[in-house]
Amino acid sequence: MIDLASITKEELTELLAKHGQPAFRAKQVMEWLARGVRPLDMSNLPKALREKLSELPFGGAEIIDVRHSQKDDTAKMLYELEDGNIVEGVLMRYSYGNTLCISTQAGCRMGCAFCASTLNGRVRDLTAGEMLSEVTAVERAFPADDGKKRTVTNIVMMGCGEPLDNYENTVRFLRRATAADGLAISPRNISLSTCGLVPKIYQLIEDAPHVTLCISLHAPNNDVRDRLMPVNKSFRMEELIPAAKHYADVTGRRVIFEYALVDGVNAYEECAAELAERLRGINCHVNLIPLNSVKERDLLGVTRAYAHTFAGWLEKRHISATVRRELGTDIDGACGQLRNKHAEENS
Ligand code: SAH
Repeated sequence: MIDLASITKEELTELLAKHGQPAFRAKQVMEWLARGVRPLDMSNLPKALREKLSELPFGGAEIIDVRHSQKDDTAKMLYELEDGNIVEGVLMRYSYGNTLCISTQAGCRMGCAFCASTLNGRVRDLTAGEMLSEVTAVERAFPADDGKKRTVTNIVMMGCGEPLDNYENTVRFLRRATAADGLAISPRNISLSTCGLVPKIYQLIEDAPHVTLCISLHAPNNDVRDRLMPVNKSFRMEELIPAAKHYADVTGRRVIFEYALVDGVNAYEECAAELAERLRGINCHVNLIPLNSVKERDLLGVTRAYAHTFAGWLEKRHISATVRRELGTDIDGACGQLRNKHAEENS
């Protein structure tokens, strides 16, 4: 069953026709939905229709807690879904606009050794409507200033969960997020991050608007990647790197490789050299992140100065690389940390 928050105009028109409603109602409802307004508050609809629509599953996500960073303008949110599940999001302010990091699953089953989101496995997939509601809830909580229409100009799918492990909902979300009568965000301003589910990367080119693809690589070879990411047992780097290249070639979009630097594991100069060879000839960029140590995991990060040195090793070999800006470190900015804390505090 499709939730109302992610319905298309065609689906809605069909639904309304069944209830004997004129076609112009669809436009009215779509305008409300683009702002995340629930049926009972759709004030220009007849009361009977509002009540009818309110009986359908909506796919809501309500902000139940916001933490503001003291160091920068970052805000971390906890959302509650209608069944009580909790997911998290981060709003980051940049000069060019605001980026919202959204979750795609409650928990995650990918098992990456450094990640807090996966500690208790996957609870369930989020619906497309719930992902859209994460955005519209932020729009309502932080209205855009100086007359701008939207607070959220950019979206990164880098919160809890693996988007390509929730494929159908992710595709539906991307279509609605970019649709003119949806959130109307340009695909260029949306990034999807995956740990590397290779067949789904190929499928995504066919099924969804061409967003920026980010690959969580974190290793220069299979040996190192096997230690950090169980998904590498199913999809080897010999398949993953060509899939990334194919995405870049077909879509014309530069692929981003994410690389969290883990002290004593993947941060040696030989790693940079090997990585540079692997990525040669691909329209790509490497985003370096000093690993955010998670208290349940015994892996350690490197200093920012060291990360810049590593970037230099890649640049020297003509691979474009930057160190990701660090935001919200005082508010458990890394994925899954706040959600876990909330679960502990409430158990
Ligand atoms: N499942 C997707 C998206 C969610 S994770 C993926 O794997 O890409 C978003 C990014 O944060 C990924 O690159 C992930 O590897 C990284 N990440 C997770 N835990 C981290 C940590 N403790 N420190 C730094 N990066 C981390």
